[in-house]
Parts: sequence; structure tokens; C-alpha cells
Amino acid sequence: MGSSVLLLVVVALVAFPLFYNQERSNNASRYQNSLDRANDRLRFRFATLLDSLDQLAGNSFVVNAFVDSTGRELYLSAALRDFRAPFRLAQALVLLDSNLTVFAQTGRTTLLTPIETRSARAALDTGKTQLTFHQDGGRPQVLIAVPVFYPPASTHEGVLLATVGAAELMQPALEGLAPTECLTVGLREQPLLSTPCDATQVTDHLSSQTGIAATAQGDVALAVAFADTAGAPFRLLTLIAAVYSVLSALALLLVFAATRVVGRPFAAKLEELAQTAKALAADPGATARAQWEHPDEIGRLTLAFDTLVEKWRDIQSSLEQRVQNRPEELAGALEQAQVSSQAKSDFLAVMSHEIRTPMNGVVGMIQVLETTPLNEAQRRQLQVVRGSSDLLLRVIDDLLDFSKVEAGKLQLDIAPLRVDQILQDLLAALAPAATARGIDLRLQPMPAELSATVSGDATRLRQVLTNLVHNAIKFTDPGGTARVGVTAQNCGNALQLAFEVSDTGIGIAPEKLHHIFEPFEQAERSTTRRYGGTGLGLAIVKRLAELMGGSVEVKSVPGQGSTFTLRIALPKVAAEPVVQAAISDERPVDFGPLRVLLAEDNPTNQIVATAQLQALGIDRVTVVENGSEAVEAALQGSFDLILMDIHMPEMNGFDAARTLRRAGVTTPILAMTANVMPEERAAYLVAGMDDCLAKPMDLARLRQLVQRHCSAALAASMH
Ligand code: ADP
Repeated sequence: MGSSVLLLVVVALVAFPLFYNQERSNNASRYQNSLDRANDRLRFRFATLLDSLDQLAGNSFVVNAFVDSTGRELYLSAALRDFRAPFRLAQALVLLDSNLTVFAQTGRTTLLTPIETRSARAALDTGKTQLTFHQDGGRPQVLIAVPVFYPPASTHEGVLLATVGAAELMQPALEGLAPTECLTVGLREQPLLSTPCDATQVTDHLSSQTGIAATAQGDVALAVAFADTAGAPFRLLTLIAAVYSVLSALALLLVFAATRVVGRPFAAKLEELAQTAKALAADPGATARAQWEHPDEIGRLTLAFDTLVEKWRDIQSSLEQRVQNRPEELAGALEQAQVSSQAKSDFLAVMSHEIRTPMNGVVGMIQVLETTPLNEAQRRQLQVVRGSSDLLLRVIDDLLDFSKVEAGKLQLDIAPLRVDQILQDLLAALAPAATARGIDLRLQPMPAELSATVSGDATRLRQVLTNLVHNAIKFTDPGGTARVGVTAQNCGNALQLAFEVSDTGIGIAPEKLHHIFEPFEQAERSTTRRYGGTGLGLAIVKRLAELMGGSVEVKSVPGQGSTFTLRIALPKVAAEPVVQAAISDERPVDFGPLRVLLAEDNPTNQIVATAQLQALGIDRVTVVENGSEAVEAALQGSFDLILMDIHMPEMNGFDAARTLRRAGVTTPILAMTANVMPEERAAYLVAGMDDCLAKPMDLARLRQLVQRHCSAALAASMH
């Protein structure tokens, strides 16, 4: 911006004098023209006058007058009188002979003046026209003496003298000028004639000498001066412009010099700042500083720069400090994370144990009660109690499962399985619930690929599908249908499965669809009131599906129904699935002869387990309260089965089992515990136990395991 203004000023400064010089030279050529025109007009008038006087001098009346003394009296005066000078000039004429005797005259009465005499004599002597200016009573006059040539004698016999007013002759040359233009005609230094303004008084004027008669002699050269008073201001302005230009140039020079001189320290300081910044950039540890004490802009800039460097240093050192501390911080954070993770796991384990223990009492005793004779009312009441306890157990299981998945503690128990069997079992297990609600639950025809053995976690797969089918039954009104279908695709060595659980139930609003997989989210607030549930089921389904490397999605139309799809790929394996022996209630076995050692510290569990064993017909039960008592009893007495709690005072179930196995005791040992995660099951087997019974203990499962592990003892007792 500043530089463009400067440029404009410079251009104006340069252009201004140029413009005026141009204007001046235009004017000069115009003035020269005016001067030339004036000269031409003057020359023309003089030449015309001289011509006509020459003709008069050559006229036969005039020439003959010198030899015809009588005749000249008659015609000469008339001839002179009749002479018409050009331009209607008033003139005086006189004809003289070679003795300067006046032959005739007109327009005058006086005798010859000395100037006339001189002029006539010169004309006769030289034979050339003489032209003289002189003053007559303050009026300039032009005196013209023309020699009269007498051809027969080839001599000049006389002189024709003519006197014309200079003003009359030359005035028209001054005409046609602008009021501001001045013209002056002078004879050498002496002005003869001027326009109202005198050109010679205007200092800046043009002038030229003009020879007005080429053939005449005497005062024939006139000085003509021309000037234009309007042109005068130009001179002043040009002067002003010149002064202005010089002053401006000087000012510019001064500013430039001042900038150089005054700006040098600033520039040097800025350069120093740049160098300091460069040095700091190259070596962050450098101690370079910029210093400038003056409280000007550079001073403030320097101060800001130094402050910035200080701040930067602080940040750098705090960063270094943090980086140095980082490993410790990280280690601390890791340790903290491990501690809290451990605390969470411990909490889960404790919760699991603490909740399952009383539930063991509830569920176990219900099952025992169910084996006793009951009237119809008692049976219905017991069913209600059982339903409630089952529900409670499911809620607890959901909560624990979800916490485990979230804590990354849930591990899959991968084993060979067959999907078709799982589906059939699942449908069979849920059929009663569907029937109870009046829902038509069906399994679609299954593809042949499903008969292949694949490897996966059967329990978790069952859990996911159960949850989906359970919801389909729950959220469908009586009379509706629930369908379970599956498609299978061979994908290399794996089976790509898509399970579809669809229903004709209440459906889910589109805006709720993406919420329902979040924990504790239900599509409708009224859901809990109307259908029950915690909102955890689908959250677990989604996480389990992802844990198994699959996904779950939903499509739903409110009022028409929903379809949940579980996609999962399971690798095909050659091994056969471990088929759990069917629980054979139909084939009652007499467990009466069996002697069982029960190691359990919790009094409730002691009562429940004893009652459950009794429900199976086993009356000979020895109860001990810890591991060491169990070891002692087992070594002393002979038992067909040992039920071993894991968490016990003095000696836990693990150590007791190990001790017994080391002592050579081969009696089957079943772990009784609420902790039945895959790795925990493995640990029980490693410690020497034969199997594991999850608390709350299921009577059917107890019967199954007793039958499985005591078959030898039972067979022996038969004989
Ligand atoms: P819960 O069933 O315990 O409420 P879920 O996590 O299993 O929790 O389901 C979350 C919500 O998703 C349910 O409350 C219900 O609103 C909706 N939902 C799940 N399955 C269905 C279904 N088959 N039909 C309609 N709504 C469903």
C-alpha cells in the first residue's frame, strides 16, 4: 500500500515537469508561427508599397518630366496626385531632379528636410531605393527615396521621395492577435509600433530581425518581438514544478537516507533475532538470547521472543521430565490397572461364590422338596418358588457373565460340537416355555452341512441362541409364531453359519434398534413392567457373538415382528463331539448302598447336599467341615464317592484332593463349587478330582455324575 502511494508520487513528480515542458514547447512553436506571420505581413506590405513606387518612378510621365520642361508643368503634378498608393495609404510624394530641385510635389508643402535630402542624395548616388524611418512630430514615418532611371542616357536623373505613416503601413501586421498576445515592431532598439501591450516588456518573448525590402537600402531591417502574457503563468508553474521536484527528490533521498541510518540498528536487531531463532532451532539447548533495552516495537518484540523462548524451555524441560517419569508412571498405571482388574476379578469370584451359596440352599432344597410327596396346592406353590429362583439365577448369571466379558475374563471353552444337536436340544428345552405362552415355536429344516462336527464353545453358542429364542417367545403375543432357521456355507475349512431367530411379535421401533444391544437398554420403558428382564441379554449376546468372531444384527417392523441374525464361522474338525450322557430319569438306579463323604464347611450347603443325596436314595453320608478332616476320614473309612467343596478353612479342596491322590486313594472325587469357568474346571482335574458340580447343585446333574462315577461301586454292591 505504502509503496504504491510512493510510486504514484514519484510518477506524478516526473510527469509534472514533463507535461509543462511539453506544454511550453507547444506554446513556443505556436508563438513562432505568430511571429513568422507578422513578419510575412510586414514584408508583404513593404514589398507592395515599394513595387508601386517603383512603377511610379518608371512611369513615362515621371521619366519624361526630366527632358520635357514644358510638358511637365501640365501633367506631372496631376500624375503624382493621381497615384494611388496600395492599402489606401496616405502619402506625400515629391519628385526631385539630380540637383535635388523639386519638380513636383503633392501632399506636402515644406521644403526638403535634412533627412530627405540625405536620403535623396544616397538614392541618386547608389541608384538604389533608400528606406529611412524618422520621427515627424512624434509620429514615426517611413521615408522612401526611389531613384528615377532615364533609359536613353542610362542614368538616374532624379529621385521620387515618398513619405508614409509607419503606423498605417505596419498596423495590419499587428492585427489578428489574441488579447494576451503582444507584438512590437522596432527599428533596432527603438520601438516603432506596439499592440496595447509591449512585447519587449515581457521578459520571455520571441524576436526576429526581418529584412523588409530585399532591393532597398537604409533602415530596412526591423526587429519584431512577440510574447504571450497568458504564457507567463506557465513559467511560474514550471518553476514551481521544478522546485517541487527537486524538493521532493531531496525529501525522498532524505527519507531513504534516514531509513538506512535510523533503520540500520532495527534491521541489525531483526537479523540478530532471526539468527537467535535459527541457533535455537538448530540446537534447542543453546543459551542464545536476544536483548534490546529500548521500550520500542523492537524492544517489545525482543521481549516477547525471549519470553517465548523461556516458555518453550519450560515446556521442553517439563516434557523431558514427564518423558523421564513416563516409564515409572506407566509402570504405576499398569500396576494400578492390574490391581483393579484383579480386584474386579476377585469381586466377581466372591460375588459368584457368595450369591451362589445361598442360592444353592434355595434351589437344592426346592429340588429335594419336589422329590417328596406333595399335595396339588403345595406342588403349584413350589413351582412358583422354583420359577422365581430360576429367574433370579438367570439374572445373577447374566450380571456375572456381562461383568466377565467386560473385564475380558470370559474365555471360550472350545471343543468339538454339532450345531444340529445344539439346535434340537435348545428347541426341546424351550418348547415348554413357548407352549406355556401359546407360541408356535418351530425349527426350520436344517441343511445337511450341519451334521458336520465343528469346534466351538457349545455352552456360549447355546447361551446366545437361547437368549434370542427366549426373547422371541417373550415379546410375541399368544397365538404368534417363533421360527429358528439356519443356513450353512462351506467356507474353506470352516462352516459359515447364519442363525435366524424370527418372530411375529411386537417388533422394535427403528430409532430404538441400535440401542437394544447396549447394556441395560430396553426398547420401551414399559418393557420391564410388562415383560420383565434386565436389558442385559442382548448386550451379552452381542459381546459373546463378537468373542466367537461373529456378529449379530436385527431387522424389525413394529407390530409385525423381528428377525435376529447371528453370523459365525466355526472350523470343521474330524473329532466327534463329546456327547453328554442323557440324564436318565427313566431308568431308576438304586444308589442306596453307596457311602458318600461330604466335605463342606457351609452348614446350609451341608444340609442341602445331604438332602439331595438322600433324595437320590443315599443315606450313608459322612459330613466333614474342611479338607484335612476329609483327608483323615477318607484315609480311615472307605467311601464310594467324595463330594469336595473347594473353598474350605484349614485345607482347601484342591490340597485335600492332591493329598488323597498322593496317598493312593482312588475314590472318585467330585468338586462342588460355584466357580466353574473352563480354567477352573481344568484346575480341579489337575488336582486329581474326577468331575465338577456347579453350585447351585442340580439334582439331575448330581444323579448323572453319581451314576457315571460310581458305576463300579454299584456293580460291586450288586454281587
Ligand atoms: P431384556 O429382554 O432383559 O429386556 P434384552 O437385552 O434381551 O433385555 O433385550 C433388550 C430389549 O430389546 C428388550 O427389552 C426389548 O425391548 C427388545 N427386544 C429384544 N428382543 C426382542 C424381540 N424378539 N421382539 C421385540 N423386542 C425385542
